[in-house]
Amino acid sequence: DPVLLWLRRDLRLADQPALLAAIEDGAVIPVYILDDDTPKHYAMGGASRWWLHHTLESLDASLRAKGSRLILRRGESADELAKLAEETGAKRVHAIRHFEPWWRNAERAVAKRLDLECHDGNYLAPPGSVTTGSGGQYKIFTPFWRALKATLPPPEPTRVPAHIPAPAHWPKSDSLADWDLLPTKPDWSTGFGKEWTPGEKGAHKRLKAFEEHADRYDETRNLPSVEGSSRLSPHLHFGEVSAAQVWHAVADAGGSVDVFLSEIGWRDYAQTVIGQYPDYGTKNGRDALDTLAWRTGKAADADLEAWQQGRTGYPIVDAGMRQLWTTGWMHNRVRMITASFLIKHLLIDWRKGERWFWDCLVDADYGSNSVNWQWTAGTGIDANMFVRIMAPLVQSPKFDAGAYIREWVPELADITGEAIHDPEEAGCRPRGYPAKIIGHREARERALEAARQAR
Ligand code: FAD
Repeated sequence: DPVLLWLRRDLRLADQPALLAAIEDGAVIPVYILDDDTPKHYAMGGASRWWLHHTLESLDASLRAKGSRLILRRGESADELAKLAEETGAKRVHAIRHFEPWWRNAERAVAKRLDLECHDGNYLAPPGSVTTGSGGQYKIFTPFWRALKATLPPPEPTRVPAHIPAPAHWPKSDSLADWDLLPTKPDWSTGFGKEWTPGEKGAHKRLKAFEEHADRYDETRNLPSVEGSSRLSPHLHFGEVSAAQVWHAVADAGGSVDVFLSEIGWRDYAQTVIGQYPDYGTKNGRDALDTLAWRTGKAADADLEAWQQGRTGYPIVDAGMRQLWTTGWMHNRVRMITASFLIKHLLIDWRKGERWFWDCLVDADYGSNSVNWQWTAGTGIDANMFVRIMAPLVQSPKFDAGAYIREWVPELADITGEAIHDPEEAGCRPRGYPAKIIGHREARERALEAARQAR
């Protein structure tokens, strides 16, 4: 009998344990189901859909080169898999296990109707497997990472199978074009294609490029004007490359590669957090700030919009928000600055920022996004304190963001020297660029007062 290979965000042929297990079982029917019903509030955002279109195209081509193909269906995952099983006579489903609460529900629903076999393989260690001495789950990153590191190296990655056995008859597939995953009016994605090549090949190209400078990661990763980090995040999110493949490619690079590996560790950590707190994307990890009076109403909405559009009058914030809109990605240091600005300077609920990132990021990831927003907000189980307020105008020169600002905020492109970080203060703010929507000191005092009231 044929078997179904249920693909979600594990869209690769190398180091893909579910694919290998399916091949062992018989003829393989690889299927991707576009499912907006199961995740509901967390249906894929616009930028992720752009990525999905291209990565599915690339995956289908790779499968065809191995004698196989990708079957596309749209609907509720468990229903669609059951239908496919009936059409094809498949009894078993192989899949990589995922930890988003909606995927865990879907896995339970599938297992009730079909023989579902879940495999690990997207993380350095299977989420949930790294436990404390007493068998509990870690809540804090540092001890978690220490314990995870003791389990490394991850297993040696496996190669792309030479051939994938095909069924005698292929079931019908949707046409990818009919899914309308790409934006049309307006097409905001023109900058995406310049920055990214979705798919397994594109992922390995990025990884190869990063190998050249992985040893200097720590010196450059905080500088937004320099390409110091790997830019692997969307590739890792969609599972085009596995964490084990990344680990084995760079672990011997020397220099500060350990710092990089610990960032991969944060990715694992985020999965253990959503495993313990499934609604971490919408609910504070600690309830201390549940009573914080976030601003709402017309003025707050206008501020939210200014933040989204990169028109706050803080050049580093605006550069980041525009990089996000144009490329679907933002530098990590600037993600921290922009998130902190929304939460503390504008006193707007972190969940509104989480939503915007969810829609705009090509690497939008339930675990990583919610863990990092809650870390910045000070609401997380392992988090910065709310009262530690980042000063964007200090961060900007400290991390030498001038060239980055000139690139992403064209109104400021001609400003030279240190004035770039705060043209308003330097008396050279061009007419087309907004004044600061709130002063730093005023914003800081308002945030501290709100925190005092919440206690
Ligand atoms: P590198 O520095 O090269 O790191 C390598 C890999 O490690 C990344 O690709 C990523 O998979 C992982 N990683 C690095 N930093 C973190 C981190 N802090 N938390 C979890 N994993 C990490 N990352 C996402 O993948 N998806 C998100 O939705 C996301 N939302 C974020 C929201 C906020 C407010 C902040 C502050 C950070 C967020 N991050 C998110 C984490 C981080 O900013 C990105 O992973 C990183 O910028 C991606 O660029 P890179 O691949 O060059 O990272």
